Amino acid sequence: ADVTARNYVQSVFETVVSRNPNESEFHQAVKEILESLIPVIAKHPKYMEHGVLERIVEPERMISFRVPWVDDKGKVQVNRGFRVQFNSAIGPFKGGLRFHPSVNASIIKFLGFEQTFKNSLTGQPIGGGKGGSDFDPKGKSDGEVMRFTQSFMTELNKYIGPDTDVPAGDIGVGGREIGFLFGQYKRIRGGNEAGVLTGKGLTYGGSLARTEATGYGAVYFVNEMLNSKGLSFEDSTVVVSGSGNVAIYAIQKATQLGAKVVACSDSNGYIYDKDGIKLDTVRRLKEVERKRISDYVLEHPTASYFEGCQNIWSIACDIALPSATQNEIDEAAAKLMVANGVKAIGEGANMPCTLEAIDVFLEADVLFGPAKAANAGGVAVSALEMAQNSMRYSWSFHEVDDKLHMIMKNIYKNSVEASEEYGYPGNLVVGANIAGFIKVADTMIAQGII
Ligand code: GLU
Repeated sequence: ADVTARNYVQSVFETVVSRNPNESEFHQAVKEILESLIPVIAKHPKYMEHGVLERIVEPERMISFRVPWVDDKGKVQVNRGFRVQFNSAIGPFKGGLRFHPSVNASIIKFLGFEQTFKNSLTGQPIGGGKGGSDFDPKGKSDGEVMRFTQSFMTELNKYIGPDTDVPAGDIGVGGREIGFLFGQYKRIRGGNEAGVLTGKGLTYGGSLARTEATGYGAVYFVNEMLNSKGLSFEDSTVVVSGSGNVAIYAIQKATQLGAKVVACSDSNGYIYDKDGIKLDTVRRLKEVERKRISDYVLEHPTASYFEGCQNIWSIACDIALPSATQNEIDEAAAKLMVANGVKAIGEGANMPCTLEAIDVFLEADVLFGPAKAANAGGVAVSALEMAQNSMRYSWSFHEVDDKLHMIMKNIYKNSVEASEEYGYPGNLVVGANIAGFIKVADTMIAQGII
């Protein structure tokens, strides 16, 4: 059964590679999941008989479109927009929009594929999707961001809706962009469909604790891992890469739990503050003034700034929360971190560790919380936002935060149990992939060949 399962997985992977040439990030995400599913396929031939893997690796729909807009100098600009509607077995497509120059079909597909399993893990009724554009918000005025975003929604609105596909934010898309997107959607469609987007402002249907959810959730998840070994955040040294929405609230929660967060970064470089990062400064610089992290040292001269974000991983720490972007920790960085005594990793970003880096951590028995489990708190609270929109009601911060905490504990528990059931005890990469897969796969079988 093992050999048959292995061959099946191999042939599905080869099809993905030949059908999606040069899409290395997508191949990487597919490879990681397919390999961990071998014991599941071996035990349950039904997944092979129903062609579940062949179907699950092919998006239901992939949309790519022109986004024309006019910059402040009056020059016409054209970007490319994407939306992948990856899998709607268990609910409407759900997943963020990323505005970043690196965005292409491969990045969007890897994110949409991951999202399918992550969303399943949350226990909420949401399918997987993702979208975005190669538009670079860096250095753009509010007016430029608004015109681009409105143009993007003028096309995107044709494909989304509260019961079909519900976008949210991701890198480069925060509260300001969601506001512009919502305004344009409402103007075109002529009704107030609050549930069409999540991450909305609190005055028009947003959920309390949505902003904090991904960062808080990642820390709750890592806390479960630590507790299982009698460890905790208390008095630990933490490094968090990034300084966006995920990083900021991971730093806040880790600090509340008694940790000292000594470093964070942006795409230009990182800061090291041995006394602990002053989060108020980071928040103001990044969220309000939209400046570079290097400006931190102007206000806190005892801290240091280092050019180049990669070297943040040379700082010794107990707990690392990579919360910047994909493939930020490679094999060499992972080896250095292990040599420096790291005890736990929680992936706040999507796929921040390469496959080789993950192997280094697992072989060294470092606690490893994979992205689709550790950072699922954001999309989980997005689903709670949709629920509140449907009820035309809102929960208090504590109600949402408590639900988030429960969801993260359940994801941890389900991942641990799946890892044990299928013979990889303690391997949460395998556990999360399997737990996320089974629900989607069984639903796909129940709904017939579609
Ligand atoms: N972009 C986030 C993620 O990667 C959130 C998606 C959402 O809330 O729909 O899960």
